Amino acid sequence: MERTLAIIKPDAVERGFTGKIFDRIEGKGLKIIAIKMIHLTKKEAEGFYKVHAQRPFFPGLTTYMSSGTVVIAVLEGKDAIKKWRDLMGATNPKDAAAGTIRKDFAVDIEKNSVHGSDSPESASYEIPYFFSGIEIF
Ligand code: ATP
Ligand code: MG
Repeated sequence: MERTLAIIKPDAVERGFTGKIFDRIEGKGLKIIAIKMIHLTKKEAEGFYKVHAQRPFFPGLTTYMSSGTVVIAVLEGKDAIKKWRDLMGATNPKDAAAGTIRKDFAVDIEKNSVHGSDSPESASYEIPYFFSGIEIF
């Protein structure tokens, strides 16, 4: 069993894709074991994406991620990290495979609708960034 962090980004929450995205998650056999809706501050977004602090897209990314409501969840299942990233599709929706969330819903490479942990190490930073033990079921 593996756990991963999922975020439905502001562009997707705003346009009403939250339910459709969770339907795909549950349809893939992943279990939702924690969920919350929040509006990140700029500082909270910077802390979450700190691995990208030196990247040119960091200021835009963190402004965008703090621009509206996000829905955050912990997903659990066999190979949860890979399964969720497969559902998400490539970072740039132009490169994303048919049938993926980013192909179907994303606006552009920044407003790309969803986030997923990219490794067990990332998941072990990202999950406790948002959820305490008693919030995970
Ligand atoms: P995420 O970490 O959000 O799941 P990812 O792992 O597919 O996405 P990363 O390389 O970790 O992609 O980039 C983090 C986020 O930064 C992307 O999801 C996207 O929102 C934004 N981003 C990445 N590259 C660019 C870029 N070249 N221009 C603008 N925004 C970008
Ligand atoms: Mg990433």
